[in-house]
Amino acid sequence: AKTEGKGTYRFFEAAMGAQIRERRSIEHDLRGAIANNELSLAYQPQAQVETGEVNGFEVLLRWNHPARGNVPPALFIPIAEESGLILKLGEWVMREACREAATWMRPLTIAVNVSALQLTSDGFVEFIEATLGETKLPSHRLEIEITETALVRDPNRALHSLQRLKAIGVNIAMDDFGTGYSSLSNLRAFPFDKIKIDRSFIQAVHANPQAAAIVRAVLGLGRGLGLPVIAEGVETAEELRFLGLEGCAEAQGYLFGRPAPIKEFVPLISANVVT
Ligand code: C2E
Ligand code: CA
Ligand code: CA
Ligand code: CA
Repeated sequence: AKTEGKGTYRFFEAAMGAQIRERRSIEHDLRGAIANNELSLAYQPQAQVETGEVNGFEVLLRWNHPARGNVPPALFIPIAEESGLILKLGEWVMREACREAATWMRPLTIAVNVSALQLTSDGFVEFIEATLGETKLPSHRLEIEITETALVRDPNRALHSLQRLKAIGVNIAMDDFGTGYSSLSNLRAFPFDKIKIDRSFIQAVHANPQAAAIVRAVLGLGRGLGLPVIAEGVETAEELRFLGLEGCAEAQGYLFGRPAPIKEFVPLISANVVT
């Protein structure tokens, strides 16, 4: 029994060692990903629930690793955050996204995910101002998506940055709404312009009455606070119908389009769209 225990321990030790090596290897390769042209942006449409008209896009980072192929953001973003690499990656994403959006014929919004470390880093607001200036993108066309974890890291600094961004006209959306610890008090304490209901609630809307009740409550909350609500992860016509009946204004999800290179959305960003 004693040797068996030791064997089990060694097995776990080996598995943990492998996991640590894997993380280090991803972190190492991520460090060179910008210079090696391995990063790209995927764009996902955000549409009006009633008309289906597209008002903007969320930008999602993609990493095409030479050996691993497409690495999911759920795997590499946390590593980028823990290693601090997210600062460089985030600047790259922001610059590329603003540059791209500034070329569009239609004045659509561009929503960019901003992580905790970025929001509370020195010079973040100045960086946004400089990027808007360089790319000539009007500030009201930029929206930043912030999760609650970004607020708990350093609430005072986060608040200060958000207030300054709001003052220059940048829009602020609370991302993954409902999945955090104190969504309600955070909504009141920080200057949000929009609530983004997390995909997990939308996808359970038909199977689970609690999820439907939560979505209805969030929509009521948005109405009460005068904040528009966008539903993420809308995949089916039934989900969209529910959202329409409950008064949700905006939606995003595979039903309207999967995240894809902007070239796949050329008709949407061009001026002569027939509506
Ligand atoms: P998120 O901000 O909640 O983004 C939405 C995620 O849901 C994206 O996953 C998107 O591809 C996926 N999605 C959209 N519509 C649907 C749908 O109808 N059904 C399903 N099943 N999924 C849908 P993705 O691209 O894998 O990104 C995962 C997360 O990685 C994002 O979650 C975000 O937190 C983070 N992320 C991605 N790009 C960036 C970035 O540039 N910066 C930062 N800080 N985080 C990023
Ligand atoms: Ca997001
Ligand atoms: Ca989400
Ligand atoms: Ca998220």
